[in-house]
Amino acid sequence: MYARPLARLIEELQKLPGVGPKTAQRLALHLLKRPDAEVQALAQALVDAKSQMGYCSICFHLSSEPVCDICKSTSRDLQTLCIVADSRDVIALEKTREYRGKYHVLGGLISPMEGIGPEQLNIGPLVHRVNQDNIQEAIIAISPSIEGDTTTLYVGQLLKPFTKVTRIAFGLPMGGDLEYADEVTLARALEGRRSLD
Ligand SMILES: [Zn+2]
Repeated sequence: MYARPLARLIEELQKLPGVGPKTAQRLALHLLKRPDAEVQALAQALVDAKSQMGYCSICFHLSSEPVCDICKSTSRDLQTLCIVADSRDVIALEKTREYRGKYHVLGGLISPMEGIGPEQLNIGPLVHRVNQDNIQEAIIAISPSIEGDTTTLYVGQLLKPFTKVTRIAFGLPMGGDLEYADEVTLARALEGRRSLD
């Protein structure tokens, strides 16, 4: 149906989240119509972002430097830590402008089905950090789902001996991602956090 180079492009685009065969075809055909320089810039941006971005050595948020801007900031509340599954959640929470503490990104959720155990996540460094930084409150901001609840319980139990542990209130549907919540809903969820029993 497609010449080989075009088929390859469509195939690669289709691997992106939320991109089905039709969208992949539309994007590919669109790109072929764009000037060479523009396509080159896109390709270069992909390669550069992949090679230059890494993870903050303290909180594991995406960062182009060894320590991210949030961890470097001295104007934030140093003793409140918000624990999230993914960097996307940090971005969503930052957009609310309500939260002024620091973050810790777990890098996923505990999922026995997918063979992801606590040791595959950034949980060891989290416990170390809570102790070392004298964290007064650890806010778990993980949306409800089977994996989310398992992870919340696991992390909560681990941290309870060392600090106050709270969970953000969710008016969100089960499995709803933090990033899909609007800023007001997310700010309210943060405001309405309660102690994790
Ligand atoms: Zn950081």
